[in-house]
Amino acid sequence: MQLFNYREIRTPVFEETALFARGIGELTDIVGKEMYTFPDRSETSLTLKPEMTASVIRAYIQHNLGEQPLAKVYYLSPMFRQERPQAGRLRQFHQFGAEAIGGELPSVDAEIIALAVEIYRTLGIENIALKINSVGCESCRPGYKALLKSYLERVRTQLSEESQKRLETNPLRILDSKDKQDRVLTADAPLMKDHLCAECSTHFRELQASLTSLKIPFEVDGRIVRGLDYYTKTAFEIIGKDLGAQDALAGGGRYDLLVKELGGKDTPAVGFAAGFERLLMTMEKQSLLNIPLPAPLIFIAAADEEGKRWALSQALELRRYGISCELDLLGRSLKAQMREADRQSARYVIVAGHNEITRQQFMMKSMKDGSETPVSAGRLLEEARGLLGHG
Ligand code: AMP
Repeated sequence: MQLFNYREIRTPVFEETALFARGIGELTDIVGKEMYTFPDRSETSLTLKPEMTASVIRAYIQHNLGEQPLAKVYYLSPMFRQERPQAGRLRQFHQFGAEAIGGELPSVDAEIIALAVEIYRTLGIENIALKINSVGCESCRPGYKALLKSYLERVRTQLSEESQKRLETNPLRILDSKDKQDRVLTADAPLMKDHLCAECSTHFRELQASLTSLKIPFEVDGRIVRGLDYYTKTAFEIIGKDLGAQDALAGGGRYDLLVKELGGKDTPAVGFAAGFERLLMTMEKQSLLNIPLPAPLIFIAAADEEGKRWALSQALELRRYGISCELDLLGRSLKAQMREADRQSARYVIVAGHNEITRQQFMMKSMKDGSETPVSAGRLLEEARGLLGHG
């Protein structure tokens, strides 16, 4: 995120419910049935954030982030949705994502997509697919919506119950229904991408040209519609082919109408959100998740009471110089302390007792090969820092 010059934004874990109802849309699944909503003591309705964009835009308006020509922010945050839990779908999960607020050109869409794709590429993840679409704008979508509706009207009774409801509320969503029969019925349905106005069509073409020149492989998929009402023009998803039923790693798009809808100035924006757990699941499947547990560089073992006091003050000293260390705080025997150092994968052990402290001379033992190096008290810090440099 920082390489792309995005700055971190943090928002509270809950917001007033009205923000999400307006920002995401009353008729979406999230607002309709997935939010954790509760009244506080003064009967204000609050909601745990189900996604980040509405909160970011609220903060953008409230704190005048629009003073900069293009506000580029990123986040990593827990999200809450009351969905049926299953593999890759949790009720508290985490998303990372980014928003670029204030730019209308397709180059901003290209940068956001490049950023999302680059994260997976940098982590060495394979088997992903980028799908892009355009969902049009205020001027071309209503006409298309009517066209789609009348097309689906003819097969209304054969559609799934859910899709029949959506025919009234959000017919575009019928296109990404997972129901088999719905899939068959919509196989030849008209798609937004073929009914774009001149402006949206140019924007979509230029975005594709940018992605091609960036050598980012993509696929145009007219069925990517996204669940949220505020999207305009670009919509995209990154699919993880190893993931199973819940296969979306990330999703995003342009939302030129949201800032104004939430009370700000007319401001175009584009962003994405990615699931952290699904990223980890993918990394695990592809054997990319070999993150070592943090281990102390040095374990100071105490041989007696004097050693314990010395260990306590020496540990603080070392820590002040950026050297991670551990010591025994449970009054264990020297033997038990050595076992503990081993269990914690400490790289070196220093044994301190009356003799060592009197002579100001200590033994630094490597836990890897058992070798021992004598170190004088005066050189301890320097030696420890040297160890940091030598892996
Ligand atoms: P969305 O805001 O629904 O477009 O979600 C963006 C990304 O967040 C998805 O592509 C998933 O990777 C992730 N995600 C969404 N909902 C959940 C959930 N309930 N549990 C885990 N990850 C989720």
